[in-house]
Amino acid sequence: MTSEFREQLYIGGAWVPPDSGDRIEVENPYTEQVIGHVPAGTAEDVNLAVSAARRAFDGWAGLPMAERGAALGRLHEALASRAGDIARTVGLELGTPLKVAQAVQAGLPLAVLKGYAELAAQPVTEETVGNSLIVREAAGVVGAITPWNYPLHQVVAKVGAALAAGCTVVLKPSELTPLVAYLLFDAAHEAGLPAGVLNLVTGTGPVVGAAIAGHPDVDMISFTGSTATGRAIAKAAADRIAKVSLELGGKSANLILADADLVKAVKVGVGNAFLNSGQTCTAWTRMLVHRSHYDEAVELAAKTAAGYTVGDPFDPGTRLGPLVSAGQRDRVRGFIERARARLVAGGLDAPVPATGHFVAPTVFADVDPDSELAQEEIFGPVLSIIPFDTDDEAVAIANNSKYGLAGAVWGGDERALAVARRLRTGAVDVNGGAFNPFAPFGGYKQSGVGRELGRFGLEEFQQVKAIQR
Ligand code: NAD
Repeated sequence: MTSEFREQLYIGGAWVPPDSGDRIEVENPYTEQVIGHVPAGTAEDVNLAVSAARRAFDGWAGLPMAERGAALGRLHEALASRAGDIARTVGLELGTPLKVAQAVQAGLPLAVLKGYAELAAQPVTEETVGNSLIVREAAGVVGAITPWNYPLHQVVAKVGAALAAGCTVVLKPSELTPLVAYLLFDAAHEAGLPAGVLNLVTGTGPVVGAAIAGHPDVDMISFTGSTATGRAIAKAAADRIAKVSLELGGKSANLILADADLVKAVKVGVGNAFLNSGQTCTAWTRMLVHRSHYDEAVELAAKTAAGYTVGDPFDPGTRLGPLVSAGQRDRVRGFIERARARLVAGGLDAPVPATGHFVAPTVFADVDPDSELAQEEIFGPVLSIIPFDTDDEAVAIANNSKYGLAGAVWGGDERALAVARRLRTGAVDVNGGAFNPFAPFGGYKQSGVGRELGRFGLEEFQQVKAIQR
């Protein structure tokens, strides 16, 4: 049994006491009870962790990539033996329903880590261009700062790629969901990763996050979170021209064309919008439907949403858990309250359990594409439906966004593919194409800079050198 009451940080290959005795309490968003705590780290803890990562860098970066791959393989094995604890911990601190916690919150990071172990084990062939030998080298000491919505996946997407590339890492997980990261560090300790290669400093964004982002000896910041925080981090990094990779918000569109399989497109679309209670950066929160199917789509989406069981994340019948915090719930309720559109499911008066930070699955129809509902990332179970008349109009509405993270198109294969090419987003799923954890992941516009996952994700943590001969 693992403990949810963690007293230490992981620095230089050992569990160490934090600089300060202050703690951050972790709340279960379903019971609203405190279920654990972690140290509130300080800038001094960050200094120690960055020094440890710096000391470890030359040795780790100097290893053949296959040796780093073998170490990642051992880390994967140690983490995989904790799959049950991972799902349970994310259920407790985030409120993800158990089935989704097992499949996504535990399954996805394990698949990603295994993928990086295998990728790093492959022989590296260096390119030549004319008289130049092109060499890829580790970017350096990486500061990784992550959010709460996929709290292990977002950590592993960074750590797996960075370690494979030869970087060393200082991680600050979200203060709302810091517990699952401890399972990764238990696994790293067991797997015997070299001292200083992977370090953990828990704490708040303004203290620990800002200290990492502004640290002169951190070569690269890899951040996932809100666009507002990403902007602050990019500004801090700009002072010393440090490399940044940013995975930020989204407002993705699901385009249901005239010749789409309507029932499938709507059902899968609603499921995507409400996954993890809508706390998913890629969520298809705008459903764009051809006018010939519009009324039918609205009715089906409302019926599908109303059929979602809301409740205890550990009850196997639950489809939708609470939101992560009271603050997040109130923010989402504010969007619903201000909405000027036709409410067809859920809303503020729909019944939800008395305890827990719940918002009922909510669907609005006839949403103005320029309104707050259609433009802002809500990060809760709120779907907006918008009609269109032509494919050109659908593309224009979809691209009318400051974000560009993901999206979907449903229709005849050739036509849907042609529309997919016109969307200004980092990913598009055509006719239900499944999420691929080894494909590049990232955003256009204010959804971010850089790519994660697979080979593209690994290359993000490398510098390229040309040696002329
Ligand atoms: P957030 O920006 O509030 O926090 C993210 C992390 O940044 C946390 O660890 C936080 O402590 C830290 N932080 C906060 N202020 C900081 C500062 N001044 N300096 C340094 N670090 C600071 O985001 P959140 O609420 O945790 O997560 C939700 C957001 O994340 C949503 O906008 C969502 O779209 C986005 N997200 C993006 C992706 C993606 O891959 N594009 C994936 C998941 C979530």
